[in-house]
Amino acid sequence: MLVNLIHTAARALPVVAIGAAMSASAAINGKHDFSKYPTYNGNDLELTVTPEGANFRLWSPEAQAAQVLIYPTGRGSVATDTLDMTKAESGTWRATLPGDNYGKFYTFRIKFDGEWLKETPGVWAKAVGVNGDRAAIIDMTTTNPAGWAEDKGPEVKAINDVVLYEMHHRDFSVHPSSGVANKGKFLALTEHGTTNPDGLATGIDHLKELGVTHVHILPSYDYNSVDETNLPSNQYNWGYDPWNYNAPEGSYSTNPSDPATRIREMKEMVKALHDAGIGVVMDVVYNHTALGDDSNFSLTAPGYYYRHREDGSYSDASGCGNETASDRQQMRDYIINSVKYWAEEYHIDGFRFDLMAIHDTETMTDVAKALKEINPSIFVYGEGWTAGDSPLPVERRALKENVSKMEGIAVFSDDIRDAVKGHYSDAADRGFATGKPGNEETVKIGIVGATAHPQVNYSKGNNSKFAYAESPSMVINYVSCHDDLMLTDKLAKSMPGSTEADRQRAARLAQTIVFTSQGTPFMWCGEEIFRDKKGVHNSYKSPDDINAIDWTLKTKNHDQFEYYQELIKLRKAHPAFRMTTAEEIAKNLKFDTVTEPNLISYSLLNNANGDQWKEIKVIFNGSDEARQVKVAKGNWIVIAEDGRINAEGLGTSKGGKLTVAPVSALILAREK
Ligand code: CA
Repeated sequence: MLVNLIHTAARALPVVAIGAAMSASAAINGKHDFSKYPTYNGNDLELTVTPEGANFRLWSPEAQAAQVLIYPTGRGSVATDTLDMTKAESGTWRATLPGDNYGKFYTFRIKFDGEWLKETPGVWAKAVGVNGDRAAIIDMTTTNPAGWAEDKGPEVKAINDVVLYEMHHRDFSVHPSSGVANKGKFLALTEHGTTNPDGLATGIDHLKELGVTHVHILPSYDYNSVDETNLPSNQYNWGYDPWNYNAPEGSYSTNPSDPATRIREMKEMVKALHDAGIGVVMDVVYNHTALGDDSNFSLTAPGYYYRHREDGSYSDASGCGNETASDRQQMRDYIINSVKYWAEEYHIDGFRFDLMAIHDTETMTDVAKALKEINPSIFVYGEGWTAGDSPLPVERRALKENVSKMEGIAVFSDDIRDAVKGHYSDAADRGFATGKPGNEETVKIGIVGATAHPQVNYSKGNNSKFAYAESPSMVINYVSCHDDLMLTDKLAKSMPGSTEADRQRAARLAQTIVFTSQGTPFMWCGEEIFRDKKGVHNSYKSPDDINAIDWTLKTKNHDQFEYYQELIKLRKAHPAFRMTTAEEIAKNLKFDTVTEPNLISYSLLNNANGDQWKEIKVIFNGSDEARQVKVAKGNWIVIAEDGRINAEGLGTSKGGKLTVAPVSALILAREK
């Protein structure tokens, strides 16, 4: 069951249409025509519990027979009951186990093409035993923490108001210096008062101090790679190898063998974050499964949930061995119902779709719509690319370039990412913030949130040649995430001979560009204290000594932390950085004419988006030389200068001819 998958997301690969392969689905295995399958979208799939008993309903249109096996434990025991299922409507099979069955476990198995397939917990297991091999019958109401009925995430009027902090449970709390008791667990985020050895806040208090509005947790559904029966072996994985989509990962719980524990502890984590005013975004990976023929999809409806090539083999736009088929109704409904379940049962506030372009635009639009109906504060974003070619035609893919076809969906801007720090795939490549000329226009694309702007020439864009975002709400700006070299390591590799102070300065400039740009800012955990991953670009299964955040760095790099804090404070206090329409940006954001490379200067005008400041002047100097700029005479407050920042002001300036120090931002503001 353990398969090591190389996670290759965040690869903005060129995409090629192969429309001719669209008939492959019908051709798979010759006789199985999935287009003829009836679909079933009832909310009673697989298990519902009533006072009379446990009711099972499995969707498996082409099964010749189906059974439910009942077990006393999550692993190891023999089945105490085997129920033959009866064929029912819309491709489903039904069976009932009378009486009170809480505490029991179950699996399904089907007969397909004359053979009994392996047992599976199904695709809708909401509670599972250790390693997710068997589904569990539990009373879900017993998993709710105190006050759960009143629990609510932060209200979000516009996604641009959000500040995203991507984190991995284990990175965040496993290091001895975290002071956290439940290291690497969901419960780590419920512990207040934790500190590093010098008494500086860690854990949830650190997040509050930093000021981010939402954490984006790496995959937290039940994934395949970490053996939950052997947690002391300290295995690590990002979790991009889905096994059970609708149950939490066991290794993040204090007892993976008890099905209720992982559920209760994840809810406690959500509640603690909500109580601290922080929302929770979940990374979801419906685009592929860890296993192919032995996945829960394959063992319940063989072939149906995947795309295939003409020869019947799995197509592989995920780079992980297979890709799912959101263009098929039962799969589309599955994705929609699954995120709805997480939103309703776990109060999740947002979803980040891995390799979103493997899904079709119609599915993603429906996802956003269904979630907004549950809670208008929920938002959805994803990677607008694939990691390989797909039979799905380019125009139907939920690509960055197609984002304007999808209401309520945002995409990561690889434009600003690569232009500011250098290309992700070339470690030595530099970007605007590290002195490489030629990226100015692409940085400007990032600044305007990839919307149409009269002063931005998209034909000069490095990654995009047109304004793909109809609105800044469609763009997530970032320079670093779990994938590829994190910013700290990228700077180390691309700035040979530099001092750590040089690199911290470059990081400040890079993040200042991200956090002042139109769109939604996003950062990777630990950058605020300048942690690194020892130069490992794909640390998906690297040990703790690569991935864990050493919290003593918060003491060592406290100035860096304070810079991030002020930067976030500045953005949150000033709606001018968070305009909501392309029209407003075109009207209120004006670039100054500059002729020198690695220099960008612009103003946010007209008390943009209701800002108290009439004008904000933002100047970035990515060169290693000081630059002179002319700023209108007036009573300016200096917000950022020479690698320092204070949201309330560092001092004042009368404007005129000003100097912008090397590798730094100069930000000025005036009230009239
Ligand atoms: Ca697992």
